[in-house]
Amino acid sequence: MDGAVRLKSGLWPCVLLVWCVATGGVQAQPLPWIDVHIHLLATDIGGAKALAAEVAAFAQAEGMRTALLFPPPQMGQDSILDGPEFSAALVEFGPRLAFLGGGASLNPLLQAAAERTPTPSELDVFRKRAELIAQSGARGFGEIALHHLSMTSKHPYELVSADHPYLKVLMDVAAARDLPIDLHFDPILAQSTLPEALRGNKNPSGFTPNVDGFERLLAYNRGARVIWAHAGGGDDFGAFTPHLVTRLLTEHPNLYLSVRPRSKRPGAILGTGERNDAWLAVIESFPDRFVMGSDSFFVQSTRGGAAQTFAERLGSQTQAIRRVLQLLTPETARKVASENAIRLYHLP
Ligand SMILES: [Zn+2]
Repeated sequence: MDGAVRLKSGLWPCVLLVWCVATGGVQAQPLPWIDVHIHLLATDIGGAKALAAEVAAFAQAEGMRTALLFPPPQMGQDSILDGPEFSAALVEFGPRLAFLGGGASLNPLLQAAAERTPTPSELDVFRKRAELIAQSGARGFGEIALHHLSMTSKHPYELVSADHPYLKVLMDVAAARDLPIDLHFDPILAQSTLPEALRGNKNPSGFTPNVDGFERLLAYNRGARVIWAHAGGGDDFGAFTPHLVTRLLTEHPNLYLSVRPRSKRPGAILGTGERNDAWLAVIESFPDRFVMGSDSFFVQSTRGGAAQTFAERLGSQTQAIRRVLQLLTPETARKVASENAIRLYHLP
């Protein structure tokens, strides 16, 4: 009798293992994850509070441990609040909501001076703003645009030299404060004309190679960690590929990427056809270098434009992110879901 009981209980782990393998039971419990790339576009603190409540509910529904909020890379001195200016709206939601700064303050300064060298006093203003962001409780700087394609007729085109003095100041402050920079960089590998899919937007007609410049920026200060946004989202130039990313991750220890997996553009991890296993293989090869960023938009209703269009797509990327986490090995999934982000952004 005793022996029979022992035998039965000894069998339990095997039975459970078979059940788990057969049903995917190990992963049935969704992994809590961190979304490092959510855009909040508020024009006043009351609007920011209302949006923060929406984000908190969304984060909970989507199984997020933490959501990082910041403005997309703004062009002009527009009325969008930057991280430190809307951070008071997040307080009541505790550690679930955190923020980055600079998308609506540093980036407009950078884009406005894209064609010239800033004066020493302008550099000082830029540096002081970066320091203020660092002291405000921000978890990093973003979103900053190095090269940003225009995806709709109301969406800006942004281009700045990777050797720009403002970017060097930002890299130095980021390194000194150990805060990452969320960077938008659409890579171009060869002299190209505008792809058909991007016509009708604000893009130029020709493009010159820019990856060397990006690499110089990374090498300029190895203490600054750069989170290259929107990995695995495909691109119309065929440049943002697993091949390029593998080389850059190998050569640049301060480079990280945030994954935005769903797109109709060619090369996306979860696109219109088969899933892209080459991307999943890169993530498995560099499990400490990827985080998840849905690029979800929360926009105060008084504002129209491209952001409003993007806000209407809410939920599609987060669903795709959860799918990618299921496709990765459990150890890599845990790192990419939250462990890497906790370490990079110093989250509690
Ligand atoms: Zn972006």
